[in-house]
Parts: sequence; structure tokens; C-alpha cells
Amino acid sequence: MHELSIAQNIIEIVKDYVPEKDYKDVKSIMLKIGEMSGIVADSLEFCFEAIKIDTPLSNSKLVIEKIPFMLFCNKCKSETSNTFGVRICDKCGETDTYVVSGTDMKITEIELDS
Ligand SMILES: [Zn+2]
Repeated sequence: MHELSIAQNIIEIVKDYVPEKDYKDVKSIMLKIGEMSGIVADSLEFCFEAIKIDTPLSNSKLVIEKIPFMLFCNKCKSETSNTFGVRICDKCGETDTYVVSGTDMKITEIELDS
């Protein structure tokens, strides 16, 4: 399962950033997940809850913010979104666009209990 390996990666990343003595104090891991990233937030949360038990991060939880898929159109200079995740401007139909947000996942914050 895709989300299971992502959950494992998140745990590894947090362990890289947080000193070992503080692992048990990690309270929340803030994530931003793009709606076109291909990651199912609920499924990721489920996998994380299932595997954290066997890790030093068992006191932590994921806090997920969903980021909308947004495009910027080079022709009409507007920022639009479309529900299909295709890179076509929703206003003028132009394909000369670039993706502003919504296709990736980021860990934005790791919160420790003090
Ligand atoms: Zn446009």
C-alpha cells in the first residue's frame, strides 16, 4: 500500500529531525497534502496510527491540512483550479499554465510536548 510506505517515511523523517531523547515527546506532525498528490489523507492517517505503536513516536499524531490544486495561467494571468487535476485554465481553456500547489506533500511542522 502506497500510504503505508509514506507513513513509514514520515516516521523516518521525524526521527532525522528530532533528537533521540525527544522522540517520545513528539506530539503532532503537521502535514500539507495536495489534493492531486495521489495521497489519500484518511488512509495515510490510518496507516500512521497502525505503525506508530511499534516506533518511539507512539505518542504522536498526524495533523493534515489539504491543499487545493491550483494553476496559474500564463495567458489570462489568473489563478484557477479544476477538479480534474488537468493543467488547463478553468477560465480561458489555455494549456500554457503552471501548477501553483496541490500536487505534493510536505511536513511543515513537528510539535513537541514540553
Ligand atoms: Zn487562462
